[in-house]
Amino acid sequence: MPKDYYDVLGVPKGASGDDIKKAYRQLAMKYHPDKNKDKDAEEKFKEINAAYAVLSDEQKRKQYDMFGPEQFNQKYSEQDIFRGFDFKDIFRSMGFDFDIDFNETPNDIFDDLFGFSSGHSRRQAEGADKLLQITIDLKQATQDTTKKISVTHFAKCDACRGSGVEPGSKVITCDVCKGHGQIKNVQRTPFGIMQTITSCPKCRGGGKIYEQLCRKCSGSGRIKKQDTIDVKIPKGVEDGMRLRLAGEGDYSQHRVGDIYIDVHIPKDREFSRKGSDIYYNLDIPFYIAILGGRMTAKTLYGDEEVIIKKGTQDNERIVLKGKGMPKFGSGSYGDQIISIGIKIPRALTGEESALIERFQQIHGTARGNENGDDKEDKKRRFGIF
Ligand SMILES: [Zn+2]
Ligand SMILES: [Zn+2]
Repeated sequence: MPKDYYDVLGVPKGASGDDIKKAYRQLAMKYHPDKNKDKDAEEKFKEINAAYAVLSDEQKRKQYDMFGPEQFNQKYSEQDIFRGFDFKDIFRSMGFDFDIDFNETPNDIFDDLFGFSSGHSRRQAEGADKLLQITIDLKQATQDTTKKISVTHFAKCDACRGSGVEPGSKVITCDVCKGHGQIKNVQRTPFGIMQTITSCPKCRGGGKIYEQLCRKCSGSGRIKKQDTIDVKIPKGVEDGMRLRLAGEGDYSQHRVGDIYIDVHIPKDREFSRKGSDIYYNLDIPFYIAILGGRMTAKTLYGDEEVIIKKGTQDNERIVLKGKGMPKFGSGSYGDQIISIGIKIPRALTGEESALIERFQQIHGTARGNENGDDKEDKKRRFGIF
């Protein structure tokens, strides 16, 4: 018993075209083979597309409603179901930037869908784009870096230079169209008799073909191989940015694909990034905070000596100009913002303890009370200069 297309899309029988579209888009996003690597996802994806191909088409839907799932599936072949249904357009409209690589889709589901599998007449795939991931750390993002990545792609066949023709091959009359360049198709379809004249797929309308296809690539003009490519990552790159390497994707005679690379920069343990500024915590002993002094702070560019001024407060900030991230696409840099944390010892020796108590006595007497003003204020108030 074939599944009911309304159930597949999770919509009621009387659903509007918009509801069907909405349900389809949601499911297609979820089960798209680029996104969902589950074993069952592919089958599910195919089901969803079949359901949408029928229910989104007024005529097909009418037939479906009339016959019901079982009879409909007996009457109409998969090709009937998908006729006139432009997947690529639909996927593009859904924000899938990338062409589906027809040659690499697992189990060739698209071949089945479009009836591509008939050997010689197999349509040559467009050169597909590829999406790869690269991870660098924050420090690497402070300067231009080059990373090597390994990619398996279709490269131009070197034997025929991508033409698909065996070098020295004779030109003969196309055996498919007998030199006419066109093919007449008469088809009985569930929606009427259709006569179409199409350009011959073998000679592409020229009427002549080369006798011998390239032996190395079987005429496809390309060879699957693994290459190592250098990826230049510009300084200042941010997590999630996408780089494009033009012409590094799959080769085909119609179009050479690109490689897109998503750059990932995991969170750093010491430095946190906000735009081009870097935030960093520096703990200092309480006596340095009181007396002032020098401390060493880490930066993305090495250690840096910072001056702690007398009477520094907890959470006070010190800004190191130009020690942040490079601003993407410009020559300037952000700042490093140091946030001071004051460390208080959890335990003291007897001697230390005595010193602090002594400090407390003196400080208390000098100020009169614990909440009093500081010495400078007092001087001013009593007119002592
Ligand atoms: Zn070749
Ligand atoms: Zn032909």
